[in-house]
Amino acid sequence: MNEVQNFLLEDIGIRGALVRLEETWQQAIAQHDYEADLRQLLGQSMAATVLLANSLKSSPRVSMQLQGDGALKLLLIQCSEELRVRGMAQCGSRSRGEALLGDGRLAVNVDTRGPNGFFQGIVPLVSPRLDACLEAYFRQSEQLPTRLILKGTERRVAGLLLQALPRHAPEDGAFADAAALAETVTTPELTGTAAEALLPKVFPNHAIRLYDARPVLHDCRCTPDHLAGIVRMLGEDELDSLLLSPGWVELTCEFCNRAFRYDRPAVDAIMRGESPGTRVH
Ligand SMILES: [Zn+2]
Repeated sequence: MNEVQNFLLEDIGIRGALVRLEETWQQAIAQHDYEADLRQLLGQSMAATVLLANSLKSSPRVSMQLQGDGALKLLLIQCSEELRVRGMAQCGSRSRGEALLGDGRLAVNVDTRGPNGFFQGIVPLVSPRLDACLEAYFRQSEQLPTRLILKGTERRVAGLLLQALPRHAPEDGAFADAAALAETVTTPELTGTAAEALLPKVFPNHAIRLYDARPVLHDCRCTPDHLAGIVRMLGEDELDSLLLSPGWVELTCEFCNRAFRYDRPAVDAIMRGESPGTRVH
């Protein structure tokens, strides 16, 4: 299950979305040696970024970054307009029991690719919980009551977003009541129960409209053409030096952690403007 699905609590004017990611997340962490809590943080960040991208009308590109002075130095998730996601994390050496997130910040970049279509929001990491930090972002950027719940198992990460509709402020207390209901959702329910069964259970006595699910895919974008562009950017002096010693040019994609190696004929082909294909080392 790799999809995001919008819904509406019609009687109280609150919109919501459910995201569940399995292979999409597993592919992003497959080639890395991340510890269990970092795998989970990366997955929940991926789920949250999909919810962010999905909540915006203009189908923008969205990226989310966590930067801090804890063990985690950087975590980056990128989500394209077609909900293709990739993510990576850099973690320093870690003493036993040290928390991942220290003081730091969460930055969200939204790129609608139109004129003036770039927006960046930054909030401090106010909590060790990612969902609490993101709620602070939503409060700052959209100024709409928002509740976000992120949960995960070893196999799957999931998120539930509730947000008041713009210009349709819910009645006093209605949003808080719906948020309180959302908080009752358990990890097995959120990660494993189909939306048709889950939503009536979490929000009984509400009129629920459920929209079609949108698929979410993992896509690293380290294509032969993209890699050839990086080789060209190295410049002839650097390339000559590498081809002398060690005798090849090696690029490692920091998202999927695959290494690509180019020998002299491959580099020559790239410099002639050809895309030689890639050989995974
Ligand atoms: Zn890659």
